[in-house]
Amino acid sequence: MRHVIGIDVGGTKIKGAVVDGDGRLLYKTERDTHPELGADAVIDRIAVLARDTAIGAGLTLRDIAGLGIGMPAFLDADTGYVETAVNLGWQNVDLLAELEQRLGALPIRIDNDANIAALGEARAGGGRGARDALCVTLGTGVGGGVVIDGQLVRGASGMGGEIGHITLDPQGRFCNCGRRGCLETISSATGIVAAAEARLAAGDLSSLRQEPALSTRALFDHAAKGDRVASEVIGYAIDRLGFALANVGATLNPAVIVIGGGVSQAGEALLVPLQQAFERYALPRVSRGTALRLAELGNDAGVVGAALLFGEGN
Ligand code: ZN
Repeated sequence: MRHVIGIDVGGTKIKGAVVDGDGRLLYKTERDTHPELGADAVIDRIAVLARDTAIGAGLTLRDIAGLGIGMPAFLDADTGYVETAVNLGWQNVDLLAELEQRLGALPIRIDNDANIAALGEARAGGGRGARDALCVTLGTGVGGGVVIDGQLVRGASGMGGEIGHITLDPQGRFCNCGRRGCLETISSATGIVAAAEARLAAGDLSSLRQEPALSTRALFDHAAKGDRVASEVIGYAIDRLGFALANVGATLNPAVIVIGGGVSQAGEALLVPLQQAFERYALPRVSRGTALRLAELGNDAGVVGAALLFGEGN
C-alpha cells in the first residue's frame, strides 16, 4: 500500500499523520512547535516529527512515498519557499531546501494551511466524491480553498480561494488584511462575537448579558432560546455568508460547498439558514446543483490534506 506523511504546522503544535492513498488516516502524532526557538529549530522539529510519524506507524521513511506539509504562511507552492509566516516569525525561508537537506531523497511538497485543509475536506471529508468543491473554514478568521477536478486552485500568486477577504461592506469593520468589511469581519467567530458585543455596548436588552464571556456557541444557544439580539447577529452573519457563497457559486458552480471550523459545530442551526440564504441569492441553476455540507475531518483536515498533496494531480 502507498503511504504518505502529512504534516500540519501551526503556531503551537506540529501535527503529523500517515495517510494511505485514499486519504485514510492510519496513525497520527504531534509535538510542540516552539516558534520562539527560530526557524532552524522548527525545521529540525518538522524533520524529527516526520521520522517519528513513520516509526509510530511501524514504517521507516523508505516506506513513505512523499511528505506533504501545510504551513501557516504566504509561500510559493511550486518552490516551497516561504515568504512570510507571521505566527512563526519567519521571513524568506527556503523551507523545501532545508527539509531536503535533513530528509534526503524523500519527495516533499509544501502548501499553505488553508489550502491543505480544503484539499483534505474536498477529497476525503465533506466533499468526498465530488469533483469540484469550495471549502470554507469559519474560525478566528474565514479561510477558504477551491478544489476543481480534484486539484487545488492556487492562482497566480497563491491567493486563490481566499474567500474570507471578499469585500461585503467597503465601510465596514477593519480586517486583518488592512481593508474594510471583508466576509471575515462579519462571519468569522471573531466577527460574530464583535457584532454581539457592539449590540450590548449600544444598550440592547439581551439574555447574552448573563454570559461572563461571549462565544459563538453562547450566541447559538441564546438564539435557540429566543434571544432577539443573538438571533439577529447570527442571522446577519449567516445571511452575508450565503450572499458571498452565492456570488462565488456564480463563478465556480461547485458541486459541494463544505463548511468547517469552530462555528460549524453549530451544525444544522448554521446549515439550514445558510442553505436558505444561499438559495435566496444564488442563480437557481447554481443552488440546485450545489450541496452545502458540514466538514467531517475536524482538526485532522490539515494532515490529511497535506498528505493528499501527493494525490492525483496535486
Ligand atoms: Zn480582509
